[in-house]
Amino acid sequence: MRTSALITGASRGIGRAIAAALAREGWPVCVNYLEHRDAAEALVRELRDQCRAAMAFRADVADREAVAAMVRAASEELGPVELLVNNAGISCQGLFQDLDGAAWERLLAVNLTGPRNAVQAVLPHMLREKRGCIVNISSIWGLRGGSCETAYAVTKAGIIGLTRSLALELAPSGIRVNCVAPGCIETDMVRALSPETRAMLAEETPMGRLGRPEEIAEAAAFLASRRASFITGQVLTADGGFTV
Ligand code: NDP
Repeated sequence: MRTSALITGASRGIGRAIAAALAREGWPVCVNYLEHRDAAEALVRELRDQCRAAMAFRADVADREAVAAMVRAASEELGPVELLVNNAGISCQGLFQDLDGAAWERLLAVNLTGPRNAVQAVLPHMLREKRGCIVNISSIWGLRGGSCETAYAVTKAGIIGLTRSLALELAPSGIRVNCVAPGCIETDMVRALSPETRAMLAEETPMGRLGRPEEIAEAAAFLASRRASFITGQVLTADGGFTV
């Protein structure tokens, strides 16, 4: 039976690169997006031109019903979802003291409840088949904390807890759960920072540069592959040496 991969937040940045990498490895891919429909559809066209099966689906990962509908649509069009990449995420800079309730709630809703919604939507099939794989995207700030990014770091630390706990719970059911913790990667999320901050982050990275989305995609594709068949509950840090 043909099965599929669902990548949340795949219209841009790291998610886009992951969807392209998984499609190259033969996965039919569901490209989830929220606001950038044109970008998501352009990626789907590009993949179809390469004879890959792909579809785009708009859903706010924070919306449980929308995520369930997306998983149903992907399963019908591409085959049951046996690989889930929880990539969609938002960030927020500023002093913790100044963070208002709405921003805190939205960060938790997208970065933590989003993965909860997606995992719960794909699990019934995976549990029935006793097979499946989940790759979560955390961050180095989730490993070590990040000044002026406290709420974001909290959600990314939560993703690591989710990864390890689910890995233990789902291992007997043949489902692997891992996570990638990227360092500073050249995407719109980091382009939103000032040029000075970006230069400082590149300088603080032992490899002397920001990472590329494709470099994170390779790490995610590895964890999703048979090459990682005995690996579960792990955090693979891809950060050019930042946290060493
Ligand atoms: P970008 O801001 O470049 O892209 C974010 C993606 O997530 C877009 O495709 C966006 O879709 C989607 N998205 C945002 N909110 C939602 C939502 N509520 N529902 C569905 N999709 C949503 O981010 P990056 O590529 O940089 O980041 C991807 C992941 O990697 C995030 O989880 C981030 O925290 C993590 N990360 C990034 C790092 C970096 O340095 N860039 C470092 C460490 C971790 P659309 O545009 O269609 O709205």
